[in-house]
Parts: sequence; C-alpha cells; structure tokens
Amino acid sequence: MEQIFPALRAIWRRWFCCLIIICWASIAAAISNEPAGGENHPPETGGSPTPKIQLTPEEQTWLDAHPTITVSNEFDWPPFDFVISGTPQGFGIDLMNLLSERSGLRFQYINGFTWDELVEMFFQGKIDLLHSLSVTPEREEKAYFSPPYYHSKNVLILRRDAADTSELHDLEGKIIALPKGWSSIQFFKKNYPAVHIIEVESSRQALEYVDQGKVFATVEQEGIAAYFIKKFGFHDLKLSKWIDNDELQKTSSMHFAVLKNQPLLFAILNKALGTLQPEDMGRLEQKWFSREGRQIGDDDIGLTPTERTFLAEKRTITTCVLPDRMPLEAYHQNQLVGMTADFLEIFAERLGTSFTIIPTSSATESLKKVQSGECDIVPMVNETPDRRGYIDFTSSYLNYSVAIITREQEGFIGGLQDLAGKKVGIPIGEFTWESVPKNYPTVTFVAFPAATDCLLALASENIDAALLSLPVATYNIRHLGLNNLKVSGHSGLQDTIRIGVRKNAQQLHSVMSKVTRAISTKDVDSVYQKWVSLTFEHRLDYGLLWKILGGGSLLLGLILVWNWQLVRLNRKIARAHEELKIKTLELERISRTDTLTGLANRRHIEATLDGEIDRTRRYQRNLSIILIDLDNFKHVNDTYGHQVGDIVLVKFAEMLRSDIRASDVAGRWGGEEFLVVCPENDLAGATAQAEHLRQKLTEISFPVPGCQTASFGVACLARNESRDGLVRRADDALYRAKSLGRNRVENALTERKNDIP
Ligand code: GH3
Ligand code: MG
Ligand code: MG
Repeated sequence: MEQIFPALRAIWRRWFCCLIIICWASIAAAISNEPAGGENHPPETGGSPTPKIQLTPEEQTWLDAHPTITVSNEFDWPPFDFVISGTPQGFGIDLMNLLSERSGLRFQYINGFTWDELVEMFFQGKIDLLHSLSVTPEREEKAYFSPPYYHSKNVLILRRDAADTSELHDLEGKIIALPKGWSSIQFFKKNYPAVHIIEVESSRQALEYVDQGKVFATVEQEGIAAYFIKKFGFHDLKLSKWIDNDELQKTSSMHFAVLKNQPLLFAILNKALGTLQPEDMGRLEQKWFSREGRQIGDDDIGLTPTERTFLAEKRTITTCVLPDRMPLEAYHQNQLVGMTADFLEIFAERLGTSFTIIPTSSATESLKKVQSGECDIVPMVNETPDRRGYIDFTSSYLNYSVAIITREQEGFIGGLQDLAGKKVGIPIGEFTWESVPKNYPTVTFVAFPAATDCLLALASENIDAALLSLPVATYNIRHLGLNNLKVSGHSGLQDTIRIGVRKNAQQLHSVMSKVTRAISTKDVDSVYQKWVSLTFEHRLDYGLLWKILGGGSLLLGLILVWNWQLVRLNRKIARAHEELKIKTLELERISRTDTLTGLANRRHIEATLDGEIDRTRRYQRNLSIILIDLDNFKHVNDTYGHQVGDIVLVKFAEMLRSDIRASDVAGRWGGEEFLVVCPENDLAGATAQAEHLRQKLTEISFPVPGCQTASFGVACLARNESRDGLVRRADDALYRAKSLGRNRVENALTERKNDIP
C-alpha cells in the first residue's frame, strides 16, 4: 500500500499538470479566435476555411502600433453600405468585416456624412480606409486601389412614362441627378457637357428627383437601383438596358482605397483580400443582392442627418383633418378617428415626431389652410392640376377606384357616359369636381355636404346615382344600413391618396415623401381591415341587453333570437356586397377586354385614347398612334378556315403585348385591325416603333398559314385635333401603305407643321 499511494500521487500530479495546460491552451485559443475589433460587427461568412495571413515583421509592427483603423460608412446606399440605428450594414461592410477577421485589423466605422464628405475626409487623411469606390486617374495619384471586388452594370433610371432609352446622347439638353462626389459626374462633364447635372445628397435622393419629375434620369448600378425600387416602392420608375459605354461602366467597379502614405496598411488589406474564396463573395452577393433582398428594418426610411435635425427642431407637424369623410377620417368628440388616425400613428413612430390635429369644416378649408401655411399637411388628398399650383404632393400611399352607386334595381353601369340625363351626387370638395362635370356635360351633378348626405338622397330617390370612393361608399352604405343601395359600376377614375404638403417646405416634403413611400401593403391592409371591414361585426347593444335582462328572460330570449337573425342578415348583406364588388370588378375587366385576343377592346382603347389626348394637351407633350391591318387576311380565312385565322390574330396580339413599350396601350380596333396608343412619342419615334413591329411580325412562324404581314399607318396628334381626326389621318396613311404594296409603314405628316403641339 505504501508504494501504491506515492505512485497514485505521481499519476494524479501529472494529470493535474496536463489539466492546467489544457485549460490554458483553450483560454489562449479562445482569446486568439475572438474578433480583432470591438467596433466591427461579426461577418456572416458561413463555414468556409478562414486562412490567417502571414505578416512580415514590419507589417506586424505596424499593426501593433495601429490598434484601430477608421473606415468609411455611407448613411444611405443600400444594399452596399448604409446605417440602421447607428449600425453599419451592407455588402461593403460585410466584406470589410471579413477583411478585418482575416487580417487582424480592427475597424471603426465613421458614419453620419455624405459620400462627398467621406471622400474629402479620406483624402485629407482623416479616414484610413475608403471602400466601395471606383478608380479615377486623379484618385489614383493619391491613393492605392485594391483590385475590383464587385462590379454591376450601370443603367439609366427613368420614369415609366418616359420613352425607353439607354443612350447617353438622349440625355443631352436634359437634367439628370447624380450624388455629389461620384466619379460619373466628371465623366459627364468631360464627355457629355450638354447634359445638365444636379448634384444631390444620395442615390435615394437622385431616385426621388426622377420620381417627382424634377429631373429626367439618374445613373445607378443595376443591382442597387433594382433594390431601391423594390424596397422603397418607387413603382413609377424603370431601369434602362445596360449603358453601352466602357468608360462610364468603369465607374461602377468597386475597390477599396488607402492613401499612399499608408503602404503597410494597403499591403495587409490586400493580403486579406487575397484569402477570399469565390464562395465567400458568392455568399455575400446572395445575402445582399438576391431577389428577396436583405430586409432593412421597418423603421428605416432613409432620413438624412439634416432631415433628422429638421424633425427634432420642428417637434410637431400641424395637420388639417376633415369633419367627416369616414372611413378615411373624421373628427368626433375632439378626437381624430378613421384611417388617417392610424396612418398618422405609423408616420409618427417612423419619423419620431408628433402631429398636431387642426379640425376644419371642409376639404376646401383644409386646402386653404395648407396654402396659407396654417397647416403643414393634409394627410389624405388627391393631386389635381389646380391643387398642384399651391400644394406639393407626396407619392400616393392609398389607391381606390371611384365607384358609381345606384339603387338596387339598376343594372350594371359601364361608366359615367351611361349616366346621361341622370342626376349624380358628389360631396363638396371631392377632387372629382375638377374634371368630371366638364367631361360629362350631359350628366347633372349635384353637390352635397358629405358622402352620407349623398347616399341618403340617393336612397330616398332625390338623385339617381352617387360618385364616391369605394371605401367611403361601402362604409357609409353599411353604416347607414341603406340596403337598397349598391355599387353598380366604376367611373374609371382612381382615388389616389397622397399627403398634401404646404408649398416650398422642402425638408418637410422630403420626409413626408419618404414616410409615405415606406407604407407597405401590410400597413394599408391592417388599417383598412380595422376601419372598413370589421367595423360592423359586433353591433350588439349590450346596454340594452342588460336592461332587457332585468326586465324578463323571455323577452331576452326573443331579443337574442332577433339579434342573431339580424347578425346573420348583416353577414349575408356583407357577403353579398363583397360578391357584388368582385363581380363588378370582373365585369369591369370583361367590359374592357377583347375576348379573342385579351387586348383592350374598341371601347376601352377609344377611352384610353381620349384620356391620353387630354393629358397630352394639358402637359403639351407628344402623342402618336399606330393603326395596323393584317394583309390579305381574308385569304387566310378562306384557305385555312376561320379557326386558323383566329390563331393568327391571337399570336399577333401576343407579339404586340410583349413588344410595345410599357407606357403604350394596344387594342383591337375591329376584325383584323389593331390600334397602339403611344404616349410621349413623336411621329418619328412611333414610325420607328411601327417598323420594328412590322419586322417582328414577319419573323413569327405560323405553322399553318406560313409567314404573315401587316400594313401600318402612323399619325401624331396635332394641336386642337379631335380623336376622329387623328384616327382618320392614321387610317389614310394605312390606306397608302396598302396601295403601295402592303407590308410597309406609312405615316401622316401633318399638313400644317406649326400646328404640332
Ligand atoms: P387587306 O390586305 O386589304 O387588308 O386584305 P384583307 O383580306 O385583310 O381585308 P378584308 O377587309 O377584305 O378582310 C378582312 C377579313 O378579316 C374579313 C373577315 O372575315 C376577317 N375577320 C374579321 N374578324 C375576324 C375574326 O375575329 N376571326 C377571323 N378568323 N377572321 C376575321
Ligand atoms: Mg381590314
Ligand atoms: Mg386586312
């Protein structure tokens, strides 16, 4: 035993030593694996091997002497480089964090500055590392640039109603917006001096300027533009094809840069960049540029630091609200109710500000108060040409159709034109007053103080119909229990709701635009559900119920049965209304569509043309039409049968649909004739487009009848010309195309050149 104990003790001592060594080793390993920087954020690199780089003794000494490296961070360039609640985010930031991890450098991000300011600070030596920038000869004189680590093609961002182009020459004489400090500014100044440039704070502001029509276009990387458009709801914008210019495309190659007086820093970073595997970059691209996009927090609406200061100093936004336009808004017992109340709550939370409610007696008074500056905003208004003169508008955040309401026994109403000779009620102050009465002179329009008065007059047969925004109609019909009324048709007008902002309040307009654009479909649905759909679910009068309970249980039983029936009846009515709404919408769609080809039918294409003629006159723009007639179509029918003829018509319509511009509308004019309405297109443009369509048709292979051709007549609207006049000239040109041998395009040059608008 005496020998066993010392032996055990020796073994125990050896084990104890091993244990201590293992503990130390693990602690040391844990320390060395910790991210090098406290300020940077752990990159999401997945499980790829992360080889550490080998540093030379000089590099190691430099690293030890420079514990923190300052790195740029833009406030608003998602998904590349941006900030949410003070935290740097984006593709560029993740990449920098990877480099930090691989190199042992510790990064501190500098944010709160515009790109322009960041670039200046970098060249002044106030920031050590600038990333996500392109190389220019001037920059290269002062800084070392890494090899490119990301490249996405530059495109033009245009409004949807602008003609398609990716040609830089088309920008000459026009204004474009570019963020300050971007190298593309130098490119345009040098190569396209006739392009006017407005320098803005950020990419997002550039897109906002295009959206609001302040500038014609901006230039942006495709991936970033697509991300912005989807994420921030710039639905009125479109991307061009890639811009065909190598020098400009070079401005979107992404590099990092270090001043030339920091060669060791540059060497360390370059070594770290060299360790990145294609999978690492693939993962980052997937994370930030994939279709779904990276979710930015809901609270991020992209306010600039200046806008945040503006809001903090302003403290409250005075808001004019109407006395009664339920379910949109109303002021009852000193309280704002309706959808506006909920939207203001959302706005307040996202802007971190408050709204002071100022009730008014009518829409007219609200608008006057915004004009005089007594109110900063009206939260729910429509943009009209008149109002644009004295109010600025944000993007729209709600959109409803304006419905025609009649009594139950009326049939389907195809549009306002079907109301000739009838009396139609519209509440005072509705935007429809500006355009509808003058466009429908055969209808008698009657003004009512509010929607409820309108509906009551209709129910009691004092008028024949009412024109109301769909939610206003649905809500009030149900609220007043007017079961003899229904939605009978759609006016073709849209109640497109925006915030009206007092004129020349630039900062306010910008923040209100950002916050409206951040309103999601989910926000709209939940507010709508609350005020329109669910308001009438529980209309049981509990006070009455208790009194009756006291009075006698028999009576209670009777009341309950009665109430139950009432609820059932109410539900039935609600369901019927819902069905009616769906059917009306379907009917509306059917009434607009040609059954064979799915294109707009004659009536709808005529209405579209009328609308475009109006718009063209108002804004003094161009409008052209292309009239198309298939050649020798009778022969196809006679030789192969009507069915084969139908197939040709359908295929031709498909080609038209996919080959015209997004802003054009194609319709079936009759038989084998088609009409394309081309807004914002002049005679030359539309002729070129017709030529393109002609060529396209000859390339379609029809298995049975073989190759088909068509003749095209093009005309551009002259000043004071009627719809019929315009179509007649297109038809004359088409006739000429036929007589000159078919399969060709002819256009109608206006006889009096100075008549062109
Ligand atoms: P042109 O080159 O002069 O236009 O000769 P065309 O044969 O095309 O002209 P015409 O007006 O003599 O004939 C048009 C034919 O289009 C007559 C009609 O039967 C046919 N058509 C009209 N609507 C339809 C349709 O919906 N389906 C089919 N299959 N044919 C139709
Ligand atoms: Mg014909
Ligand atoms: Mg024909």
